[in-house]
Amino acid sequence: MAKASNTKQPTFPLQYIKGIGPARAAALAEAGIRTIRDLLLFTPRAYLDRRTVLTLRQTRMLLSGEEGVPDEVTVLVEVKRMNVPVGRNGRNRLVMRVFDATGEANLVFFQGVRYFTQAYQPGELLAISGPPEIFGGVLQWTHPELEKMEREEEELIHSGRIIPQYRETQKMKSAGLTSRSMRKLIESIFESHAEEELKETLSDALLNEFQLLPKEEAVRQLHFPDSEEKLERARYRMKFEELFFFELGLAFRKETAKSERPGIAFNVASDLPRQLLNQLPFDLTGAQKRTLKEILDDMSSSQPMNRLLQGDVGSGKTIVSLLAMLVAIDNGYQCAMMAPTEILVEQHTQTLRRLLEGFPIKVEQLVGSLKKRMRENLLYDLRNNNIQILVGTHALFQEGVEFANLGFVVIDEQHRFGVKQRAALMEKGTMPDTLIMSATPIPRTLTMTLYGDLDVSVIDELPANRKPIKTAIRFESAVDNVWNFVRLEVMEGRQAYIVYPLVEKSEKLELKSAVEHYEYHKEVNFPDLRLGLLHGQMFWYEKEEIMRDFLDKKIDILIATTVIEVGIDVPNASVMVIENAERFGLSQLHQLRGRVGRGNEQSYCVLVTKDHFRYQMRRGMTQNEQRKERTASIRRLQAMSETTDGFKISEIDLELRGPGDMVGTRQSGMPEFDHVNLITDGPIVAETRKAAFALAADDPELSKPENKVIREAYFAGMKRSLKYAEVG
Ligand code: ADP
Ligand code: MG
Repeated sequence: MAKASNTKQPTFPLQYIKGIGPARAAALAEAGIRTIRDLLLFTPRAYLDRRTVLTLRQTRMLLSGEEGVPDEVTVLVEVKRMNVPVGRNGRNRLVMRVFDATGEANLVFFQGVRYFTQAYQPGELLAISGPPEIFGGVLQWTHPELEKMEREEEELIHSGRIIPQYRETQKMKSAGLTSRSMRKLIESIFESHAEEELKETLSDALLNEFQLLPKEEAVRQLHFPDSEEKLERARYRMKFEELFFFELGLAFRKETAKSERPGIAFNVASDLPRQLLNQLPFDLTGAQKRTLKEILDDMSSSQPMNRLLQGDVGSGKTIVSLLAMLVAIDNGYQCAMMAPTEILVEQHTQTLRRLLEGFPIKVEQLVGSLKKRMRENLLYDLRNNNIQILVGTHALFQEGVEFANLGFVVIDEQHRFGVKQRAALMEKGTMPDTLIMSATPIPRTLTMTLYGDLDVSVIDELPANRKPIKTAIRFESAVDNVWNFVRLEVMEGRQAYIVYPLVEKSEKLELKSAVEHYEYHKEVNFPDLRLGLLHGQMFWYEKEEIMRDFLDKKIDILIATTVIEVGIDVPNASVMVIENAERFGLSQLHQLRGRVGRGNEQSYCVLVTKDHFRYQMRRGMTQNEQRKERTASIRRLQAMSETTDGFKISEIDLELRGPGDMVGTRQSGMPEFDHVNLITDGPIVAETRKAAFALAADDPELSKPENKVIREAYFAGMKRSLKYAEVG
C-alpha cells in the first residue's frame, strides 16, 4: 500500500500531448513517467529561491568560514569564456570561466570536454550546484551540476519567487527535457488536466482536523510555490496522504488478523521459567526481563500474539524466546522454531538441548536432509505429542508435518522468511502465538511504520560482560599489516573471516573476489594455515560442511562473501576483515561485524578500503549522485568505527541513503515513499497512524458516506499496486 496513492495507471498516452512526442515520451517513460497523472505528480527534487541561491562572494566567504558550505547551494552565473588547455599528461580539460555581480570562478571538466564545449556558450546564464573549493586562490567547481537558466528566471528568483528543479536523466536531457522545459510542460498540462487527475483522496474531516491543503492545490504548490510557507504545507499534505494510506493498509491487515480465529489464552503462572533461570550462570538483563513480560502479557490473552522481538546480535533473544516457549509447554502445547539454514537449526537445537538439560522436554530438529525413516519416526512423534519443541528450516512447511497441538511459533531471523510461509505455518494449528525475532536493527522511528501490524518488543541492552568489538579502517597500501595481525590472532588460537564483495573475478567491476583471493592468500600470505572458502554459489551442503569445519576449528581463516551475514555462532572467531569495505551497505557491514565478538576474547573488525576513494563513473548516475555516493562511503566507514550500536547504525544508514534511494530501500525491505523521509518525518508517521487506525476501527468497511473519497482512493490505489506488481 505504500504505492497506493501514487502508482502508475495509464490514463492518456503522453506522446500525444502537445510538446511531448515519441522521443520525449520514451525518455519520460524510462524515468517512470507514463501518464499525465505521473507527470503531474513528478515532484521537484529541489527548489531555487533567495535563500538557497548564493552569490560567488557569499560562497567564498562560507568556504573560509567554519560552518562550511551546505550541500544544496546553488549559484547563478554567466559564462565568460571557455578554454581547453592541454594538461601535463596530454589530456584535455575544459575550464569554463564564469562570473556574477560579485566575482568570478572556474568550472573544470575532465570528462565530456567536447560535449560541454559544444553545449554551452559565453553569455549564457547557468545555475551551478555542487561542492565548491578554492584552488590556487581561485573559487572552483569540478564537474558541477549545470542548468541553463533564463534571465527572466533569474529575475523571478531575485524578486522572491521559488523555482522548482526537476530530476533529469541523461535521456531526458538529450530529449530537451531540462528542468526549465519540464516546468513549462507541467504548467500547460496543469491547466487542462489537474482537476480531473488530482481528485481529492482525503475526507473533509481529515482535511479540517489536520489543516491539509486540498490535493489539487497541494500539487500546484509543489510545482509553482507561492511562498515558502505554502510549499511547506503542500509537502505536508503529500506526506500525510502517502503515510495515511500506508497505515490504513496496515490497520486493515491487523483487523483481519484479529478477527480470523481466536488464539490461546495461556496460563502464564508457570514455574518452568523460574527453574530455568535458576540454572543459568547469568541474570537476565533489564531489557530481557521487560520484553519477556510483554510477551507473557500477550500470551495470557486470547488474541493471537503477533510480536516482533528485536535485538542486536548477541543481545540474548534466544533465552527470552525459550522462556516463553516453556510457558507454552507447561500449558501442554508444542512449539516450533524456524531458522533460515540447516546449520542454524542445528545450532539452535544444540543450544536448546543444552539449556534444557534435566527438563523433561524433548527438542528435535526437522531439516530437508533427514533420512526417510528418521523423518517418519519424527513425524509420528510429533503427531503424538512426544516432541515439545521442533526446530526446523522451511521443511517445517512441508506436507505431512502435523503437530498434535502447536501453540507457539518462534521465527528467527525474520528477514529471510516470506510472509506466505509464516501464514502457512500458522495454519498448522489453532491460531498459535507467534514471536518473530530479528537482529536487523531498524531505526526506532521506523519500526512502527514497517511492522504496523505487529507489536514490537526491543532488547536495547547487551549483557554487561560483552567487550565491544574494536573496529579500524585500513588502506590497501598497508594491507600487509592486516594480514600480519590476522596471523598473530590465529597463532593465539583464534579464527578469522575475510570477506569479499564478489564471488569471482569480474571483467567489469574493479572489485576483489573471494575465489581469486582464496588462492592468493593460500599461496602468498598464509601457506601454512588452514583456509576455507565459502560463497553463495556453492551447494548448500558444501556451505554447511565448510561452516561446520570452521566451527570445529578445522579451518583457521574463512574466505567468504556476504553469505556469512546470517550465520552461526563461532565464538572463537575474533577477527573480521572486510575488503572493498566502501562497497558494502552500512547495515550489511554491521551484520558482518556481528559474526565476531561472540566469545570472551577481544574481537576486531578491520575495514579495508582504497587509499583514495577512487570510483568509476557509474552509468546512469548524475554527478551529484556520484559525489553523494562517495561521501556516503566515507561516512559509512566512519560510522562503523565510531559505534557498535545497531540502532544508531541503522539510523545513519537510512539518513545516508535518503528517502529517494529506491535500490537501497528495496534491498533493506523498507517501504518506498515518494514524499516521506522516514528519518525526519517520524511525527507525521505517528499522526497518520493514529488517524488511520481510528478510521479503520470506526468504519471498518469504509461504508460511511463521509468516507467515500477515502474508500475510492484506497481501492484505486490497491488496483494500481496490483497492476504495478504484475508489470514489475
Ligand atoms: P541473539 O540475540 O543474537 O540471538 P543469543 O540469544 O544467541 O543472542 O545470546 C548470545 C549469547 O549471550 C549466548 O551465549 C547467551 O547464552 C548469552 N546471554 C544471553 N543473555 C545473557 C545475559 N543476560 N547475560 C549474559 N549472557 C547472556
Ligand atoms: Mg540468535
